Amino acid sequence: MTDDMKSPAPVTPDVVTIPRKRPEGPDGKVNIVGLTRDALKAEFARIGTPEKQLKMRVNQVWQWVYQWGKRDFAEMTNLSKAFRAELDAAFVIEVPEVVTKQVSDDGTRKYLVKIAGGHEVEVVYIPETNRGTLCISSQVGCTLTCTFCHTGTQKLVRNLTAGEIIGQVMVARDDLDEWPEPGVSTADAPPRLLSNIVLMGMGEPLYNFDNVRDAMKIAMDGEGISLSRRRITLSTSGVVPEIAKTAEEIGCLLAVSFHATTDEVRDVLVPINKRWNIETLLATLREYPKLSNSERITFEYVMLKGVNDSVEDARRLVKLIKGIPAKINLIPFNEWPGSAYERSDREQIEKFAEVVYKAGYSSPIRRPRGEDIMAACGQLKSATERARKSRRQIEAEAGLNG
Ligand code: SAH
Ligand code: SF4
Repeated sequence: MTDDMKSPAPVTPDVVTIPRKRPEGPDGKVNIVGLTRDALKAEFARIGTPEKQLKMRVNQVWQWVYQWGKRDFAEMTNLSKAFRAELDAAFVIEVPEVVTKQVSDDGTRKYLVKIAGGHEVEVVYIPETNRGTLCISSQVGCTLTCTFCHTGTQKLVRNLTAGEIIGQVMVARDDLDEWPEPGVSTADAPPRLLSNIVLMGMGEPLYNFDNVRDAMKIAMDGEGISLSRRRITLSTSGVVPEIAKTAEEIGCLLAVSFHATTDEVRDVLVPINKRWNIETLLATLREYPKLSNSERITFEYVMLKGVNDSVEDARRLVKLIKGIPAKINLIPFNEWPGSAYERSDREQIEKFAEVVYKAGYSSPIRRPRGEDIMAACGQLKSATERARKSRRQIEAEAGLNG
């Protein structure tokens, strides 16, 4: 370890948190994207929709917005013209604005989207055979300061609203042109292009629990985007008190950023460990109420050369998680400008994987996707500094810096 890594970053750094109130769009109109069914009902009641029509109106509008992807009340042809005009006067259907889109050689798409206040977050779409995963963000930046993560170095932090979270999914479906047409059967439709969601972009989702929950409820709603809870994975650094709530109120799959096998090392890599250590975290994971073989917990483990990648670590890891239905996802470290770590050698990663595999766990080594567009894990929000990194890399390759 270097001296740098010995002085762990504070758990709660100095950040600017911008408070958010009601999700208001232009002209003080309320954005209905991200409202729960109950909240939408209350909004419709506010503009004078008769009580006995409320449920039906919510269902109708919900379907237009989340099933068919419409953004204009005028297109909602099963509503009266008068009601459409009332909706138009009071509400907007707004999703984040796509600022740039980059497509990698391997088909990965990275969108930079702008949200209220001019903040930007990145959204990554990863196509695979028979499925496609969208990696979405839950916060601008992150208040945690994991020492290997670029997002953790960002000062400004604000929670995304539920609308901004589900809006990322809607924006990606727009780009993939994947909204079904009303009245057209989807019975023989090919596998969905956007079939899975992972909350593995910027931010700690369990520090923005309510908005993440509301957004994922919308994603799972059968009359809309309709993704099964088994196709949504929430990744947390280990916010212990919120883990049981995740099972109860969202019910999605869970991934945990484990990354170390001793508290000494995890305190440095994932500083939230100083608040909830390995033992406490594991006790909570063991109780994750909906655990079953089909609902294994994914243990994410970033491979950092000489820090956490020894065969000893691998042995300790399998011992620690014994009894928990688990899959261990080994993530070769993705460098970013100024990072203090190096990626483990391929040989070492394979040795580590073998120990894990022999202990009976699936141990896929995550293939970095979209590296050419800086879309890989932990690289988000570093586009502006990319040029600097490239130059350094080129120099290194040329042997200029020893
Ligand atoms: N805040 C959440 C989710 C976002 S991070 C969490 O920490 O779990 C998604 C995953 O990418 C986490 O496992 C995180 O540890 C990992 N990650 C962060 N920076 C990385 C990097 N530079 N290289 C590889 N993986 C990284
Ligand atoms: Fe935040 Fe996750 Fe990065 Fe840690 S790894 S700083 S929790 S985004």
